Amino acid sequence: MIIAIDGPAASGKGTLAKRLAAHYGLRHLDTGLIYRAVAHELTSKGMALGDEAAAVSAAQGLDPTTLDDPALKSHQVGTAASVVSAIPAVRAALVEFQRQYANQPPGAVLDGRDIGTVICPNADVKIFVVADAKVRARRRALEARARGEAADEAAILADILARDERDQNRTVAPLKPASDAYLLDNSHLDIEGGVRAAIDIVEAVRAGRREV
Ligand code: C5P
Repeated sequence: MIIAIDGPAASGKGTLAKRLAAHYGLRHLDTGLIYRAVAHELTSKGMALGDEAAAVSAAQGLDPTTLDDPALKSHQVGTAASVVSAIPAVRAALVEFQRQYANQPPGAVLDGRDIGTVICPNADVKIFVVADAKVRARRRALEARARGEAADEAAILADILARDERDQNRTVAPLKPASDAYLLDNSHLDIEGGVRAAIDIVEAVRAGRREV
């Protein structure tokens, strides 16, 4: 089974995806990490995020074993990732890796922005997670503080809105729900509530389509 979880920054889709994967015994790929790894490769070498040739070469040389580097989690790297991810050749260089990951048995949960629309258009279940921008900013600030980083909630909100705008309006693979995605509004749900709602969606799809 392949489950596609898409949605904007800090919508809680990552936690949902991880929990769904554990629940169904599937593998999990946080695809944001691959764009973060490309951005981090550039910034750590002092290269400009707009250097397309360098970004494409970083994407082509992506080493999946580096995706657990905690440095990739920072808010700054996330913002940088949204710049390099708008480069069409960077996205093209990363498609095959994601598809191969998804197609290995027993299947996987992939979370990102274009999983249901571009990477896995035939996913068995597609969920598009949304949450109010202010709620997302508050959650990101709490997460940053828990990691010991300083967090200015107003600045994070401005950044999240700018990132939504960039992700939704880029020419290639913009952030949008697939036409057959189920919408899950996570604004007023805690983690357990969100997980239950997501499992309910998967179970409803499985009940309707016996082959899943
Ligand atoms: O989800 P996360 O915050 O880790 O993503 C960082 C950035 O990477 C996003 O703002 C988006 O620009 C980009 N991204 C993407 N496609 C994906 C996953 C992430 O463009 N499938």
